Amino acid sequence: MIDKKATGKNATVEKRGPAPGRSTLSIWGGEKDYTLYERSTQVPVVHSVSFGYEDIDTWHKVALEQEPGHIYSRNTNPTVDVFERKVRDLEGAEAATSFATGMAAISNIFGAFLRPGNRVVSIRDSYGGTNRLFTEFLPQMNVQVTLCSTDDEDEIEAELLKGCSMLYLESPTNPTLKITDISRLAAVAKSVKALVVVDNTFATPINQQPLALGADIVLHSASKYLGGHADALGGVACGSAELVKRVYQYREINGATLAPMDAYSFIRGMKTLSLRVERQNQSAMTIAQWLEKHPKVEQVNYPGLESHPNHEVARLQMKGFGGMLSFSVVGGLDAIKVFLPKLQYAHMAANLGCVETVVGPPLTTSHVECSDEERKAAGIPDGLVRYSTGIEDVEDLLADLEQALSAI
Ligand SMILES: *Cc1c(COP(=O)(O)O)cnc(C)c1O
Repeated sequence: MIDKKATGKNATVEKRGPAPGRSTLSIWGGEKDYTLYERSTQVPVVHSVSFGYEDIDTWHKVALEQEPGHIYSRNTNPTVDVFERKVRDLEGAEAATSFATGMAAISNIFGAFLRPGNRVVSIRDSYGGTNRLFTEFLPQMNVQVTLCSTDDEDEIEAELLKGCSMLYLESPTNPTLKITDISRLAAVAKSVKALVVVDNTFATPINQQPLALGADIVLHSASKYLGGHADALGGVACGSAELVKRVYQYREINGATLAPMDAYSFIRGMKTLSLRVERQNQSAMTIAQWLEKHPKVEQVNYPGLESHPNHEVARLQMKGFGGMLSFSVVGGLDAIKVFLPKLQYAHMAANLGCVETVVGPPLTTSHVECSDEERKAAGIPDGLVRYSTGIEDVEDLLADLEQALSAI
């Protein structure tokens, strides 16, 4: 079970036995082959900018990537390595590399693969920050971006067939939880030799594995579910050793490196990833079904509901429907201003995917970068609430919602 490097630097993965389960990988993934420092059973946080050598020949071999080892922590670091390997194992990838934030993962992937004159096809409902890259920064670099209706797969397919360099997807989307058929669109993208990139932040590798559905690169904002405790920022990208190496080489120079302490927070947080996500899947489903029957609630968006327009695709491509949902309440923004502050067991904050329940309107969370018109065009009503289900007892969350909704 030797595996030299998780990063694209010199990734070599040897064949293993039968693939372990999700919980086992959350705990042991990336750690089993780690050299124990002073016999510690937990991964040490290596706060060192550089790594010293006793002879020039060894140093030179490591620098030339002929031997495993570390030189300088902007490039690689032992703690960061373990985090990358853990995500790599959970996504079933050959290699992974990490970043200071999720947005750094996204912009470094673009930087590594897109050139002036290239064309990207994506969806209108991508994460707010990603949307800004698409509408403002990529066009500045003469990269053309075509954003399609998220729920119109025929339109996406037609745009892909006109020829493009990259298909960029997110499923489920933020904040309306739309689902796109990843394997269908990946197959079309492959036919025009486009690179398929999927942001898997909302689903987590526990619920969805885009590489198995045909994606070339899968990325996460680790700040959300992977870390799970809202106390560390980071991003990660996984894929083939060859593609990840290209992203790694760009990031190494671009410098958006994940810090060792944050990598450690992710390693610790991820040990309970599978447990947390299973609980959040169950609670979100219970809450979505409950909200659907509530007289103060107009619409509930959750891919696990049979009323969801793409429930069937979600059922086929996801192992669980996730902890994210959104719903609109009677009375719009004014009602939300009364309802949300009444919730006792929820932070009103611009975050998601952590152990606590977190709520907020798209106005101050996912779509803060967008104008009122853009939010309207994206089909986001003023009365929408994004609800990130925590791991509290679901009875308490339901009672809390009931008392807060009754204040409207
Ligand atoms: C939060 C988020 C990002 C950006 O991640 P940061 O770590 O905040 O930079 C990207 N995509 C999705 C789906 C997100 O939720």
